[in-house]
Amino acid sequence: MPVKEILLLGNPILRQKCAIVKNINAPEVTEAVADLRDTLMDFRSRMGFGRGIAAPQIGIAKQIIYIDFEYQGALINPKITKRSKRKFTLWDDCFSFPDILAKVERNYTIEVSFLNKDGKKQKLKAEGALSELLQHEIDHLNGVLAIDRAIDSKHIILRREYEKLVAKQPVML
Ligand SMILES: [Zn+2]
Repeated sequence: MPVKEILLLGNPILRQKCAIVKNINAPEVTEAVADLRDTLMDFRSRMGFGRGIAAPQIGIAKQIIYIDFEYQGALINPKITKRSKRKFTLWDDCFSFPDILAKVERNYTIEVSFLNKDGKKQKLKAEGALSELLQHEIDHLNGVLAIDRAIDSKHIILRREYEKLVAKQPVML
């Protein structure tokens, strides 16, 4: 399956609400899952980061995300069914704006229900890094980007400045 071009901030597809997948066995769904996996692996090998990707980022406005971090595989029609009151903040980045980081607040633990690529109903409990990753990817399916979640406009910064910040104040991050 081919590696796809990743759509960048400003592309209107990133702002669409994605359609629910109705026929899990449709060839275009199988193809989308394979393309997401290959595009994620390619991005990670080139850029040195990347743990998940959402279908709209490769131009497919369907509710599919692909994760390769703690959990590996596609989550189809994912829905967050529980969120902890406990929250945490982190600097978030995205393939669709690789030079920008936004400091966001996320729920520390969540539960997600979804279908796997075989159409089986699954439930995933996630905490910390996997939890924020899933919240980021599921936001994509609603046309919401990490920059929209920035705690305020001062917390949207360029990666070069972020790297200076990390070097100076590792504890603050
Ligand atoms: Zn993203």
